[in-house]
Amino acid sequence: MPTFMSSSQEHSMMSPSFDASSGDPEEPSSQGVVGPLSEGLVNGLKLPLYNPHALPHKAYDAYKTRPDIIASSGSGSVSFFDFTLGLSEEDIASIESSHANQEAQLEAQLAERYKNAENVSWRRERAPDVPLYHGRAMPVLGVDLALVTRPRACAMALRSALKAGVRRVDTSSSAGNETTIGEAFAAAFTEDRYGVVRVHRQDVFVAGTLAPNDVHDVEKAYKNTLANLRLKYLDLYTLEWPCATTKQTAQVWKAMEKLVADGLVRAIGVANFSIPKLEALLAASKVRPAVCHVEGHPHFRNDDVLRFCRENSVHVTVSHATGGVPRPKSAHLPPVAGAPPCLLVDDTVQSIAERRDVMPEQVVLRWALQRGTSTLIPAACVADIISVFDVFAWSLGKEEMERLSSMQYQRRHSAGRHLIGRASSFPSYEHLWDEPPLDTFAAPIPDLKIPTFQLGNTGAAIPQIGLGTWKSKPGEVQKAVEIALRNGYRHIDCAEVYRNEGEVGDALAAVLSEGRLKREDVFLTGKLWNTDHASSRVEPAVRKTLNALKVDYLDLYLMHWPVTGNRGATLSPSIEETWRAMEAAVQKGLVRAIGVCNFSIKKLEALTGIARLPVSVCQIEGHPYFRNEALVRWCQDRGIHVTCYSPFGSPDSAAMMRRESRKLLEEPAVHAIAKRIGRDVGQVLVHWAIQRGVSTLPKSTSEKRIVSNLDVYTFELSASDMSTLSTLSYQCRMVDPPEWLSPSTGPYRKYEDLWDEPPPSRAG
Ligand code: NAP
Repeated sequence: MPTFMSSSQEHSMMSPSFDASSGDPEEPSSQGVVGPLSEGLVNGLKLPLYNPHALPHKAYDAYKTRPDIIASSGSGSVSFFDFTLGLSEEDIASIESSHANQEAQLEAQLAERYKNAENVSWRRERAPDVPLYHGRAMPVLGVDLALVTRPRACAMALRSALKAGVRRVDTSSSAGNETTIGEAFAAAFTEDRYGVVRVHRQDVFVAGTLAPNDVHDVEKAYKNTLANLRLKYLDLYTLEWPCATTKQTAQVWKAMEKLVADGLVRAIGVANFSIPKLEALLAASKVRPAVCHVEGHPHFRNDDVLRFCRENSVHVTVSHATGGVPRPKSAHLPPVAGAPPCLLVDDTVQSIAERRDVMPEQVVLRWALQRGTSTLIPAACVADIISVFDVFAWSLGKEEMERLSSMQYQRRHSAGRHLIGRASSFPSYEHLWDEPPLDTFAAPIPDLKIPTFQLGNTGAAIPQIGLGTWKSKPGEVQKAVEIALRNGYRHIDCAEVYRNEGEVGDALAAVLSEGRLKREDVFLTGKLWNTDHASSRVEPAVRKTLNALKVDYLDLYLMHWPVTGNRGATLSPSIEETWRAMEAAVQKGLVRAIGVCNFSIKKLEALTGIARLPVSVCQIEGHPYFRNEALVRWCQDRGIHVTCYSPFGSPDSAAMMRRESRKLLEEPAVHAIAKRIGRDVGQVLVHWAIQRGVSTLPKSTSEKRIVSNLDVYTFELSASDMSTLSTLSYQCRMVDPPEWLSPSTGPYRKYEDLWDEPPPSRAG
């Protein structure tokens, strides 16, 4: 491995011998599909947050009752401790200070990670430049800061990169971190502590992007980016994705040409364009794109686009140089089913790296440079920036280039799935990329034609069976959702409070990116948590879920509980206030249909009395140990679709809710039926639910049970078996959090206030 340079060594790289012409770029390209999104920079760090054993004593007691809520790796859980767990102010303060300590640990880990890069003194040498079409010069190697969102990490990454000699910084407005990068730029350009070599704005080539959402007002978007980045001009402004039609793209390009003509930007370019789209743009443009930014690495060579651009004098920058697939967290973990291979641990890359005593990252960056493209160091490599940037004093041999340029595995990592399937953008993968998706690795996804229920005139149709994700632990849920989607599930039930939506989003992105399922094939339910009922909080809550799930709309959004956590005689904010804000989310196109969970008939009557948009779905507990018949009937009579949750009686909820109850999965009547019809207990219970005319949400993280719970379409339960399961006298709510009651203040002092009915009989 190359070691970090001392200051006496540092000038030895002043004149890098860069040879962009060696190597063979003419390998035939195969088309491909993509893998999951890469992880952000901090994701590789071990987050210490919410390790239950690190929590103060009282919080740990609370954790034992609500592990689903507290044992998450994300931040923000503290905010609803006060009412969900009835903790005192003191307890909250102590938890928050523990949280702060954990944050400090995270910062320490970041600092440790950047230590080596920080210890390097400033270097004057930089990457060679490539002349752009406009006579401007751009360094052939830059750093991609798009994924670094944590302000401190972003500042460290930028400083480390600049110290290492990197003089090109690519940003993306879609990443939502421009302001953070702007702060880091401001610090880098003004503060003396940055070392002996002062970096000035004009020393750094800064590229920004025009995101699809901003194409309607190019100048405004550009100026906004400048303001966020705290810069007066950009060296390169790139249209991040083509528009849905050639005409729209041409209009946007015209507006970008005006930015050049007005002297606001130095060069303009495009990204993620296919050859037909480039051809159309070149035909319509006055100012030719200086740069075409496309995916390119040994697992997706993209040779045809490279060749086309070379023939048309458009410089190519390749992104995802390290393949986009993060290294496995541990060599000992079994590979995730269907996950794409990681380029950095590929045998060819590893063997070249070992032979040359360099890092695998350097091998693939050098490969990209020798093909004549410029490229970007991914943010995840910035902690090793000095080594990674050291690719100019050596070159790969012909045989090494050939081996790297002939890998069989070829698939796109960044397939733009978020743009596909909306009326306003690209109807299919083929419309975006002008080529069919290729997937030679995963088995075809079966279409089980699961029956759906139309939700009024919302355009949404809810599949009869959906995968539950409550209590599916981080680290397990991604795999569970991928397994479910690959085995025919088309409905995933999510909620912000399950603290796992990010992983559900990763799973969805991974499966959608294979090109065999489209966004509109999957029905996504999200839920508004109790702390977000105020009208000003609803839209941000929806957007947070959309971000985590990496989609631009939800099929269904539900008010999770008629509970807000306030103390006092009446519920505040009111259900009406919350519902109005949910209606606004429909009108903005963020969600297609809205509904509620855990409402009683009385509360539904009140809601339907004021609702302007229909209450499309009521999601409630429903299984043979809590049939909830009156409510199901009431909804069905009024065209409100019912989804019954906890089809297996939520076996682990009793302990969480601090109460004893029987276990439905052990009920002799269910076992007897299962044995007689040759099905398992889970299948009998799922079938009981769907045969009642409701949809249901079996939760599992076991591959075997995920698959078997959906395998219910080749048998029926007889009328007598239905009747047996529909007349069990033991009835008990399993999901009934005692924290929702505040006996001394209200709004819900006792069970009857919350549920508007007496507790069911547990006789039998
Ligand atoms: P559930 O689906 O009734 O039961 C899940 C439990 O059953 C897990 O322990 C699971 O373990 C096990 N299991 C799954 N399949 C099985 C099978 N075939 N045989 C034996 N055991 C099996 O519980 P739930 O999670 O309470 O409810 C399901 C979903 O409904 C939730 O995940 C959530 O999406 C939704 N829900 C919504 C609300 C609301 O307020 N809106 C409330 C509760 C639930 P493995 O994972 O190990 O298989």
